[in-house]
Amino acid sequence: VLKVTEFISANDLAALMDVSVNQVISTCMSLGMFVSINQRLDAEAITIIADEFGYDVEFTKSIEDEMVEEAEDTEEELEERAPIVTIMGHVDHGKTSLLDYIRMSKVTAAEAGGITQHIGAYDVMTKTGHKIAFLDTPGHEAFTAMRARGAKITDVAIIVIAADDSIMPQTKEAINHAQVAGVPMIFAINKVDKPNARPEKIKEELANMNLLVEDWGGKYQSQEISAKTGQGVDELLEKVLLESEILELKANPDKNAVGTVIEASLDKGRGYVATIMVQAGTLKIGDIMLAGQHYGRVKAMFDHKGKKLKEAGPSTPVQVLGLSGAPQAGDTIKVYDTEREAREIANSREQIQREQSLRTKKHITLDEIGRRL
Ligand code: GDP
Ligand code: MG
Repeated sequence: VLKVTEFISANDLAALMDVSVNQVISTCMSLGMFVSINQRLDAEAITIIADEFGYDVEFTKSIEDEMVEEAEDTEEELEERAPIVTIMGHVDHGKTSLLDYIRMSKVTAAEAGGITQHIGAYDVMTKTGHKIAFLDTPGHEAFTAMRARGAKITDVAIIVIAADDSIMPQTKEAINHAQVAGVPMIFAINKVDKPNARPEKIKEELANMNLLVEDWGGKYQSQEISAKTGQGVDELLEKVLLESEILELKANPDKNAVGTVIEASLDKGRGYVATIMVQAGTLKIGDIMLAGQHYGRVKAMFDHKGKKLKEAGPSTPVQVLGLSGAPQAGDTIKVYDTEREAREIANSREQIQREQSLRTKKHITLDEIGRRL
């Protein structure tokens, strides 16, 4: 068994296996992989190469893993944090309308064709004085994309189902995604203001899927709502809070911030703008932040209404200015004490990405092979 860290170079891997790097390179060639001496190898490549030389592989932590890894928080350091909620469901069942009603704004009217354009994030204060953060995702694609990138930012999923319709394919997908992710669901049975609304029919359909709601004797919370009139929305939010109480959501606010990128773009006047969900610690102006392959000092922060913030604690979505580029949705963010640390990890990530994209390119010219050997 060979103990290695992922992204070890071909040279170092050869040394570990006590063979020459040329043997490794030519073995790779015979397998159709072109690697150069100092090229870092991903887990898959390492496993394949080691196998060729008769080794099983056990992966150990890399320096980066250790730098990125969290120090354990003690029980005393942990404080309650607000739930982060994603609203999912079939198209036109009222996701955007519900989010709008909750924020008391009117995004639906302004949206081109009524289709959600952005993955935004917002936080609101309930009537009972509790904070809830919402991710505004167009359907469940963003949720899936984030999860595919290893980001777990949703605590509770609201599944919106129109009471004048049925459980539709995207409803099923949304339910499936939440279940696979192990995220508790609350069913919001919407459009009950409509004369043709049949909420009981929806509950029956859910029961047929083995999803028994509470008033049918099951474990799932559900709430009849109207995103149009607002009926039942406060009750829905209270159910979200109830669900999150069970989850005992906690984070340490007194450390360097850790979070996830929700979206990022280049703004003509302001430079790179990233929407970030802070998940632990507190993000402050002047912090040195690493986000995916990019880093920078936090120059300014804003909440979803454009209000300037000096700091943002756990479960707070913020727009951040000051990054050197646009990270991807789902990238993790972390604050470092020195710019050197942030730069080193950013550079190493960039290099790995570059090498990986080179290696997976379909057509490699002879010239390129020559240069890379
Ligand atoms: P999304 O595709 O899930 O984001 O759905 P939208 O929020 O865009 O809503 C689709 C349509 O249903 C819009 O025309 C809304 O005005 C309408 N709608 C949403 N919620 C309700 C509701 O509770 N009652 C009624 N009557 N119409 C609603
Ligand atoms: Mg929408």
